Amino acid sequence: MEIIKDTLSLKQIQALFNKQKENQFKIANKPISERRKKLKQLKTAIEVTFKEEIRTALYNDFKKHASEVDLTEIYPIIGEIKYVLNHLKKWTNKKRVTTPIAFLGASSHIQYEPKGVCLIISPWNYPFSLTFGPLISAIAAGNTAILKPSEHTINSSQLINKIIKSIFSEDEVVVIEGAVETSKHLLSLPFNHIFFTGSPNVGKIVMAAAAKNLTSVTLELGGKSPTIIDETASIASTAKRIVWGKFINAGQICIAPDYIFVHKNKKEELLVALQKYLNIFYGDNINKSDAFPRIVNKLHTERIKNLIEDSKNKGAKIAFGGITSVDDKYVQPTIITNISLDADIMNQEIFGPVLPIISFKEIKEVINYVNSKEKPLALYIYSAKKAKVNHIIKNTRAGGTCVNSNDIHFFNSNLPFGGSNNSGIGKSHGFFGFQSFSNARSIYNQHLPGALEMLMPPYSNFKQKLIDLTIKWF
Ligand code: NAD
Repeated sequence: MEIIKDTLSLKQIQALFNKQKENQFKIANKPISERRKKLKQLKTAIEVTFKEEIRTALYNDFKKHASEVDLTEIYPIIGEIKYVLNHLKKWTNKKRVTTPIAFLGASSHIQYEPKGVCLIISPWNYPFSLTFGPLISAIAAGNTAILKPSEHTINSSQLINKIIKSIFSEDEVVVIEGAVETSKHLLSLPFNHIFFTGSPNVGKIVMAAAAKNLTSVTLELGGKSPTIIDETASIASTAKRIVWGKFINAGQICIAPDYIFVHKNKKEELLVALQKYLNIFYGDNINKSDAFPRIVNKLHTERIKNLIEDSKNKGAKIAFGGITSVDDKYVQPTIITNISLDADIMNQEIFGPVLPIISFKEIKEVINYVNSKEKPLALYIYSAKKAKVNHIIKNTRAGGTCVNSNDIHFFNSNLPFGGSNNSGIGKSHGFFGFQSFSNARSIYNQHLPGALEMLMPPYSNFKQKLIDLTIKWF
């Protein structure tokens, strides 16, 4: 398996970290127009200068179609930059807040200040969007940043490095290419914030390392995202949206519908409709379709193949697909029914184009099942009845939810994106991303002598009366 090798020693990494530490106030104190300028340069780089190279890199890493690259890698970055450019002034202005009357003679405000030197570690499945997305928030908030893209997408990670070098000096933003050893070196340093996107298991390693320096963390993790289809859902539109949201990027998406619970009266109709849309999207010969990408490497192809085999061994039926080729890193879109809940596929994140379908009679069975598992990153509900939707939302927990859709909440910068507990800690995108990379500094400004000064020691009966009075004014 070809992966990026660890390139720098701890000493060399430490030197880059120190350079950024020395430079952090210079970056932080530049006018907001400088942050805007850098964001605009990044926008031009992604949208114009390197667009073709990005498409080529993702073709070489995943055999991904240029249209899918534009929609899922380029558009989210451009959309996020535009959103930040439109709102940055408002976010960075000091925000006046009320001061209790007991502190007459003072004013209070909140000023968002950069955290300082930040580390961004990203996964392989959307190398550009998941590296540049958090970087946009880090720049908007006035930080310096070290980026560690994934070792598994060589072409993309090298291009990310080239793009960054074309815009930033290494005391502002720098890419360190490497694998786990490099990550470990980075995690030993006292960063001011770590933004990690990846698996829950590595998330725990990141958080434990961050705890040693009391570094704050944003953890964008994964897990299994359930999709619930009740008896009132319109199956035609549901199937189309699910086929898109599940099989795009060959299912290598943290927010893909991981498995489906469908009402028993709709199961057969759903199976037919899913196959119909697989056929419309990818044709009869899916391994020849230019719209269907490959798995990132042979190891993951083997892993997904084993999930299918294990389900079959435990009694599952393949309703569609099931063909794999490890050499070609190909897994045919696969729909599985009759699954044992003990099968591996129901107990680990699938992260591939395999969709288990389970039928249910009563919604409470589904709710109990979902709540018996880790909190998902996303939970999707297909239903025509608002009351049923609200019932599911109220009785489950998830990082985010789409109703009669899936995956799309990721693309709306007005919404916080992230998980809860096992699926993540902290939020990204728009203002929420800006907040993750900022310290909300409280500033209390005493303009005139305040009432508090009359309440300072030595105490007396008269002062106690004043204290009693003042407490009423808090
Ligand atoms: P991963 O956790 O294996 O790796 C992510 C990053 O961590 C990589 O840069 C890698 O080099 C580094 N890393 C790996 N092992 C490490 C270790 N022991 N110590 C320190 N660093 C280490 O994840 P992945 O396989 O690249 O991506 C898939 C996972 O990411 C899935 O679980 C998916 O759900 C999740 N994901 C989440 C989001 C989100 O926004 N919540 C987005 C995409 C992917």
